[in-house]
Amino acid sequence: MYFEFIITTSSSEELIDITHNVEEVVQKSNIHNGVCLIYVPHATAGIIINESADPNIKRDFLSALDKFIPRHAGYLHDRIDNNAHAHIKSAVVGSSVSIPIKDGHLGLGTWQAIMLCEFDGPRSRRRVVIQIIPISEKP
Ligand code: ZN
Repeated sequence: MYFEFIITTSSSEELIDITHNVEEVVQKSNIHNGVCLIYVPHATAGIIINESADPNIKRDFLSALDKFIPRHAGYLHDRIDNNAHAHIKSAVVGSSVSIPIKDGHLGLGTWQAIMLCEFDGPRSRRRVVIQIIPISEKP
């Protein structure tokens, strides 16, 4: 089962908790056991699972990434549209995560949340693709 929703971002870089949006899709699918694949079809965004209870983790994550992948480091691609760091960050964090669906809910840990990573915002339309793969179990 294929679903999509749109997220609007408001900063050049930010993490947006989309757990609620994904859980809503899982409910709508009516699948009780399976796998939920969450994917962003963008070359300057990503998807991670991380803690969201403390909002400072979002800032820490982005500043830690910035240390390894600074915004300007003489990248060749910057001559085209000045966003090489965003492409590299996107590739490093990855474009998808998979989460088990158990008893009709996302099987996330207590402190885990699904986050869209914006690395080249703000953008009015970040697509989030959800593919739900049902698994049938013998009774
Ligand atoms: Zn580019």
